[in-house]
Amino acid sequence: MGKTVIAGPCSVESREQLREATEVLGQMPEVTMIRAGVWKPRTRPGGFEGLGEPALRWMQELSAEFGVSYCCEVARPEHVALCQQYGISAVWLGARTTGNPFMVEEICQALRGSDMQVMVKNPTSPDVSLWLGAIERLQATGIERISAVHRGFAMYNNRGYRNAPLWEVVLELRRKVPEVPVLCDPSHIGGRRELVAPLAMAARQLDYDGLMVEMHPHPEAALTDAAQQLSPADLRTLLDSYLAPPAAADAASDPRLTPLRQQIDDVDHELLTLLSRRMELSRNIAAVKRDRGMTVYQSKRWNDVVADRLQLAQTLGLDAGFTRDLLEKIHAESVRVQLDM
Ligand code: PEP
Ligand code: MN
Repeated sequence: MGKTVIAGPCSVESREQLREATEVLGQMPEVTMIRAGVWKPRTRPGGFEGLGEPALRWMQELSAEFGVSYCCEVARPEHVALCQQYGISAVWLGARTTGNPFMVEEICQALRGSDMQVMVKNPTSPDVSLWLGAIERLQATGIERISAVHRGFAMYNNRGYRNAPLWEVVLELRRKVPEVPVLCDPSHIGGRRELVAPLAMAARQLDYDGLMVEMHPHPEAALTDAAQQLSPADLRTLLDSYLAPPAAADAASDPRLTPLRQQIDDVDHELLTLLSRRMELSRNIAAVKRDRGMTVYQSKRWNDVVADRLQLAQTLGLDAGFTRDLLEKIHAESVRVQLDM
C-alpha cells in the first residue's frame, strides 16, 4: 500500500515562511499533506506560542493557490471551530492533549458531525490505554478517518533520543486496533536532524503506514524545534530512500527463510527452558535465605551479577543497554518468585 507522507514546518512563523515551505513541498508529489503548527504547546513558558488565526487564513489562501492541503494541531474545542472556519479538514491531537481525557472529550464534542480527518499522537507516557482511549473517544464521536502518530515517549532515560521510541508500545496499539493506520513522527522522537532519517527507515522496516516529518525552508532559523527540522534537500533525500520500491511480493517465500526461522524457534524454546530453570533455582535459593533469615534482595550479589553479565555480553557482541534491560526484567521476576507473590 502507498505510504502517507505529511511534512512541513513545526510552526507557522510568518506568511513568507509558510509560502516558502509550501512552494518546496508542492514540488514533492509524494507529500500527501502539509503540517504546520498554529498553536504551540510549550513545555515551559516564554517560547513562541504560535500565530493562531492569521496562520489559518494564510493556509486557506495558499491551499487555493497551490492546490495543497494543510493540517495542524488542535488543543482546545475553539481550535476545531477555527480550523473548520478556514477550511482545514485534517487535524491532530498533540501528545499532551492525548494524555488528557477531559480535553479529548471536549474536542470530540467540537468535532461531532464533521468529516474531519483526525490524527492522534501518542501520549507523552507509554500508556497504550490512554492512546487507545483517545482513539476510541473519536470513534464513538463518529469520526471515520482516524490515524495514530508515534512521536515517542518522555522517559527519565531517553537513551539519546528526545523521546524514547519504545517501538513495542506501538506494536501493542497496532495489535489492538489493526484498522487504524499508524504514522511515525521521527522528528519528535529524534529531536536531532541526523536521527530523523534512520528513525524513518526503522518505521519503514516496521511497516508503518507513513510519516509525519518536520521540514523548514531554513531549519537553523526556526522559531521552534530548530534542531530537528529537515532542510528541503534533506527531506528529498529521505523520501527517496523511504519510498524506494518495497520488497517483491514473493520475498516471504525465499527458501532461505524457513531453516532460519526454524532455528529461531529452537533458540526461543531453549531460552524459555533456561529461564524456567533459572526461576526454579530462585525458588530453591529463597528457601535457603528464609531458613537463614537473609533478605531476598542482596545488593552486593546483584551488582556482581550485573557486572559479570555485562562483561560477558560485551564479549558476545550483545548491546549493553539491551543486556541491562533483560537482566532487570529477569531479576524483577526472580524477586517476585522469591517473595512468592
Ligand atoms: C508538533 O508536532 O510540533 C508537536 C508539538 O508535537 P507533540 O504533540 O508530538 O509534542
Ligand atoms: Mn515540533
